[in-house]
Amino acid sequence: MDQTTRRLSLPESPREFGFWLDGSYRGGRALFERASPGHGVPVTLIPKCTPEDVNAAVAAARRAFEDRSWAGLSGSDRAGVLQRTADLLRQRAGELAYWETLENGKPIAQARGEINHAISCFEVGAGAARLLHGDSFNSLGDGLFGMVLREPVGVVGLITPWNFPFLILCERVPFILASGCTVVVKPSEMTSATTLILGEILAEAGLPKGIYNVVTGSGRTVGQAMTEHPDIDMLSFTGSTAVGRACVHASADSNLKKLGLELGGKNPIVVFADADLDDAADATAFGISFNTGQCCVSSSRLIVERGIADRFEEMVAEKMKKIRVGDPLDETTQVGAITTDAQNETILGYLEKGTAEGAKVLTGGTALDMGGGSYIAPTLFTGVTPDMSIAREEIFGPVLSSFRFDTVDEAVKLANDTAYGLAGSVWSRNIDTALTVARRVRAGRLWVNCMLAGGPEMPLGGFKQSGWGREAGTYGVEEYTQVKSVHVAFGKRNHWVE
Ligand code: NAP
Repeated sequence: MDQTTRRLSLPESPREFGFWLDGSYRGGRALFERASPGHGVPVTLIPKCTPEDVNAAVAAARRAFEDRSWAGLSGSDRAGVLQRTADLLRQRAGELAYWETLENGKPIAQARGEINHAISCFEVGAGAARLLHGDSFNSLGDGLFGMVLREPVGVVGLITPWNFPFLILCERVPFILASGCTVVVKPSEMTSATTLILGEILAEAGLPKGIYNVVTGSGRTVGQAMTEHPDIDMLSFTGSTAVGRACVHASADSNLKKLGLELGGKNPIVVFADADLDDAADATAFGISFNTGQCCVSSSRLIVERGIADRFEEMVAEKMKKIRVGDPLDETTQVGAITTDAQNETILGYLEKGTAEGAKVLTGGTALDMGGGSYIAPTLFTGVTPDMSIAREEIFGPVLSSFRFDTVDEAVKLANDTAYGLAGSVWSRNIDTALTVARRVRAGRLWVNCMLAGGPEMPLGGFKQSGWGREAGTYGVEEYTQVKSVHVAFGKRNHWVE
């Protein structure tokens, strides 16, 4: 592949992977052929692991946890491995971005940006490994001293989705490893390549064997076996709210494993008349079109002040029309292909439903013919009412629904009129207005006069049915620990039995 050309080439034949167990690739399983969603050409062959492979991976992770080859290291030694991983990721960024684009359909330039973000995750994770600490209580009287220790939870199962395969993986793995836990990962069957390549990179960086394992295959076999596994101490699941709910049931019915859940969203972007409307229109078009709207934090509900609504909707539509949708391997592409056939059908179904329920298409509303692969035009629906399915349900595509408000209270009420609470954005030049909305919207991440900004220092996660727990930063490391209270007595005991 020649990265100096404007368009990378497709591989001549699909690349075959093994699954990653106890520090090396393993083969011998039936293979799943993944085709590039942007071109319809086979690009990878991925093992279909079995529940027995899950058992083997969990056993490896358990052995590696119990032998303390990782948990027993100092934070500084763990940080060294994470920092070396960041350095190696930098060296292999082009290769990782290439396989991410081939399997996912996202633009290559965006994929490179995501690998850079992943590098930051490992750097922040390295710092967090050194800074992780507990607490002490010197307030229990002269006879008693209290220590609060943070200990790794143990073996973590990690199930990730296909929309940001490497980015979501790396918003979790460095923090899981920083805590001293070991991990078994199951990526989406659609997008396993970069999760497997990370195994090679971690090994080269000096991670002892058995700490990071990857089992590939479908959610219904491999994923479900993990949710039900009695020897996984904690499961971090990122994906749909429906499967998240199944994880809760499986935990209850097995070993009550601790759960971290990052689920769906139907995120508001609230635009006031006093905002910089040019910037807000650009952010609105970006927020719903980035990653073809297959983004849990995409701003899929525009809530705009009535006095400027007609003009603002036109401004957003003009921006959307100019977005360069096309071949993910082309350097100039801004929006690539829809990642799976099922997701393509789902989005097209919502385009039909929106019109049938009485909303008006201001721009987009159709599939785009690129001579292969699945593409959908960024779409703006106006005249949307809160009862419509395009108003309530997560579409997970480049489809924006617009609503209008008159007062701050009404804007907040509309923003909170959802079962989800993942993210939100507010646009106003008035700090009182902006911060009032930021404080009152019930969501885990808020952007004021910006969109999808930030880094892995800041925690991420959802309110309401968007999930439980937080990932990234020091909050993310703490999520993979449990606290233990140690009581230390001083002096002679006051006897209970005289
Ligand atoms: P999904 O169907 O829930 O799949 C997510 C992961 O779970 C995949 O690895 C999938 O494997 C696996 N899986 C499927 N069925 C399973 C089962 N019964 N038991 C255990 N694992 C199972 O969701 P998706 O369609 O991939 O992703 C879209 C959803 O994810 C959206 O709702 C989106 O909002 C959410 N999401 C949330 C965040 C966040 O941070 N909050 C980030 C990204 C996506 P296979 O794909 O191999 O079947």
